[in-house]
Amino acid sequence: MNPAPYIQTHPSDNVAVVVSSAQKVALVDLAAGDAILRYGQTIGYAKQAIPKGTLVLAELIDLPEAPSLDELDLSSCNPRLPEPLEGFTFDGYRNPDGSVGTRNILAITTTVQCVAPTVDYAVRRLKSEVLPRFSNVDDIVALTHTYGCGVAIDAPGAEIPIRTLRNISLHANAGGTPLIVSLGCEKLQPERLFQNELPLLEAPNLVRLQSYGGFAATVSAIMEAAERRLTVLNHRARVAVPASELVVGLQCGGSDAFSGITCNPAVGFAADLFVRAGATVLFSEVTEVRDAIHLLTARAATPQVARDLVREMRWYDDYLARGRADRSANPTPGNKRGGIANIVEKALGSIAKAGTTPIRGVASHGERVTSKGLVFAATPASDFICGTLQLASMNLHIFTTGEGSPYGLSLVPVIKVSSRTSLAERWHDLIDVDAGRIASGSSTIEEIGWEIFRFALDTASGRRKTWAEHWGLGNSLTPFNPAPVT
Ligand code: CA
Repeated sequence: MNPAPYIQTHPSDNVAVVVSSAQKVALVDLAAGDAILRYGQTIGYAKQAIPKGTLVLAELIDLPEAPSLDELDLSSCNPRLPEPLEGFTFDGYRNPDGSVGTRNILAITTTVQCVAPTVDYAVRRLKSEVLPRFSNVDDIVALTHTYGCGVAIDAPGAEIPIRTLRNISLHANAGGTPLIVSLGCEKLQPERLFQNELPLLEAPNLVRLQSYGGFAATVSAIMEAAERRLTVLNHRARVAVPASELVVGLQCGGSDAFSGITCNPAVGFAADLFVRAGATVLFSEVTEVRDAIHLLTARAATPQVARDLVREMRWYDDYLARGRADRSANPTPGNKRGGIANIVEKALGSIAKAGTTPIRGVASHGERVTSKGLVFAATPASDFICGTLQLASMNLHIFTTGEGSPYGLSLVPVIKVSSRTSLAERWHDLIDVDAGRIASGSSTIEEIGWEIFRFALDTASGRRKTWAEHWGLGNSLTPFNPAPVT
């Protein structure tokens, strides 16, 4: 099949993306000050006359104002609930709290960074000396992080890293029960982290380092407690559960101009399939939806959901203003090299991941999402921080990339979808699904969307491993802490 030389995303667009270079080309003569339209929306204004057929480079485009949060259309477009999709299941681990895991992992929670190297040491030994005896357990993961002490723990915003770490500790893939390692004198005491789950803190589930005589005794205590948990986890068995038990977190990283044409719309099609199957789909990255917020509030299922969206946007506007940062800090140099002119164009491509269904709920940073359907889970766009925050809820992650990132998480499978075939070929042992076939004309958005959906069910069932899992790639947990460090 002969691919088109360029792709026009929307019939009203006056620029299109050149397939060979990912840069934009003017489809008409543009005068200085003319609106530049992509995705049927204004992505900026021409700084100078741009003749038809020439490249519309980022430096020729003035950034428009972000949509005002005071004049938004709240839930007017009233999107119809999609047709249910029945009969799809996966094999998951059902937990006592009702959640369903896609992996069987011993998670070792830490309350403070001070204990991280000790826990890492114990985990290295556990993996080589103990784990091989528990063939039904997939992995042992140390939930280490930089939070826990030296922080203003009662300051506004501190609740975000605390609830994030709590919800990750209770993750479905860890059976909802962590093993906890504390130092003893830290600010984030286990009783504070698990104030609603105090029975979790009974010995031997909790190891306090300062209670032991020396390093070897401490490591032995962690290893003994771990072996008890492994014995329990080893009895978990996969059972067929409806696809509605999936909680799929969506994210993009290293996007290019194709992301909004290929991988993000394909993931958006898959997102609609997940929602139709009754599952939960999370989309995030406040700075990458902020400039498209007028399109999202209109899609809110109710005016209250729209107001909740506005609340999260406003919170983030204030957060950026405190740091005297503005939205031009995003995109990255790589995004620009990949043909994305500015944050407006990036946002319009990014929200394609969210498909077409009504937005049913909004979660603040690090909250556990329990509702079904499409949910906006507030996070920064930073890959590791977004992934960490989504881990509060998700049991499967789908990550789209154009420039390429080997990103992975240790607690959930991360399915990587490329925007271009050239990346999927160059990174044949890192990219799981090639959505670039949409640009070359050899596959449709619908076909790749179904492929992603089926890949996700197979991966959730443990029948398939992602490349990131194959290589053991897990980025560090990076809790979002907007509160002061002391
Ligand atoms: Ca990201």
